[in-house]
Amino acid sequence: MHHGTAVRAACLALAALSLAACTSRSGDDAAQEGAATPPRPTEQAEQAEPEPGADGAGDPYYPDDGNGGYDVTDYHVSISYNPTSRNLDGNTVVTATATGELETYNLDLNGLKVSAVEIDGKAAKFDRSGEHELVITPGVPIADGATFATRVRYAGVPASAEEGTLGVNGWQISQSGGAFAAGEPHSATSWFPANDTPRDKATFTLDARVPDGWSVISNGRESPATKGSDGWTTFHWVEPIRIATYLTTVGIDKWTFERSTLPGGLPVVSAYAPGAEDKRQVESQLPEIIEFLSSKFGPYPQSAAGGIYINENIGFSLETQGRPIYASWAELDVVVHENAHQWYGDSVSVESWKDICLNECFASYAQWLWSEEKNGENLDDLFRQQVARSTDQFWSGKLYDMGAGNEFTSVYDKGPMALHALRRQIGDEAFDRVLKEWPAEHKDSNASWPEFEQFVAKIAGQDLSGFFAAWFHSDKQPADEYLYPGSLRK
Ligand SMILES: [Zn+2]
Repeated sequence: MHHGTAVRAACLALAALSLAACTSRSGDDAAQEGAATPPRPTEQAEQAEPEPGADGAGDPYYPDDGNGGYDVTDYHVSISYNPTSRNLDGNTVVTATATGELETYNLDLNGLKVSAVEIDGKAAKFDRSGEHELVITPGVPIADGATFATRVRYAGVPASAEEGTLGVNGWQISQSGGAFAAGEPHSATSWFPANDTPRDKATFTLDARVPDGWSVISNGRESPATKGSDGWTTFHWVEPIRIATYLTTVGIDKWTFERSTLPGGLPVVSAYAPGAEDKRQVESQLPEIIEFLSSKFGPYPQSAAGGIYINENIGFSLETQGRPIYASWAELDVVVHENAHQWYGDSVSVESWKDICLNECFASYAQWLWSEEKNGENLDDLFRQQVARSTDQFWSGKLYDMGAGNEFTSVYDKGPMALHALRRQIGDEAFDRVLKEWPAEHKDSNASWPEFEQFVAKIAGQDLSGFFAAWFHSDKQPADEYLYPGSLRK
């Protein structure tokens, strides 16, 4: 995720100093800092596995997200979408393994009218409750360990959801009359039923049927479209690498497609909405970006690459898996950022939303690394400039366990500074190992910030508890011994 216009304006103002750095804060961010942090459950409760049938997966910030009692292995989403009426017809099969006996269980789905639910081909009872719960009751309870397929048939006009600092999330209508779905932490459930938590990653297949003249882009790899005799065409996309629900996307538009293959065989598909064709120049640097990021983070971890360039001035660009979705203001630094997430965020996903620095601090530091290598920027000088400009408010944002609604307040500016200080604290050799070995160790999985601290301490052979406390757990400027390690010391 990369923030939109307010922060971007600040980034542009600082462009003379650094292409990548952005220390100014938007009004929204400032307002967020004044917001009270909601009461939090105890650490023990946070670690507990949700009960079978529970209507939440246990994230302390978003307790109703996801559900308990099963692990999804695959989503097969089939939709028909009519841009004229804006109606979506959906038929989604969710294949899962029960982690306990299930007398009832939930999927998450926002709006849309459900007409039928089947489990392994047999009709099941269902009900709707709360904001997004689809409560399903099988004819006979599902046994612990059983694999079962839930088919949900549904229809309606998908709705977007307004979510604080992140802007509008979920299903949105584009200027051309098409539509796209994106958003963090929620977006998938605006168009298909899901276990909406990053903890439950699954493979993902999309068959999307649209009237002739429209086309569809999504995650992963494409197979040839199927043209019907009825004036509609079905587009097929498969993501064989497990994906968190918020990283799924679909774009329906009159796309200009660009297809190529990287050395090594990785397929690249990029799509440009009408009016966004000039972004082809930015995207032409993708092979160089992926080569650079691979040199820092290890082999590219996704099944495909590319970008989705919408012609919309939305508040964010997002690292949708294998194929980020870009707002109209996105430039090269954002393409570097979103592709860095393919390792940090997409392949290695957060365990809980309070671990978001594992995504954003690294994607933001990737912009610093790019600027260092490609522009010869002196990152120590950049770091000291940022410290010189910093205010108490700047330091008051926490990088770990920052509170619901504050996830994106400090990770983009304080985050890369903290990682640069870590690099100087443990030295380039250990830091390079961390950057590569962390994504390798947790590839296609989930991990938490406390695990990362232990991992770094082990590689560095140092007790880093004081350093991590000062930079990642504190709301104050670090003491000089942590603020200026190694060559940062004056
Ligand atoms: Zn990001």
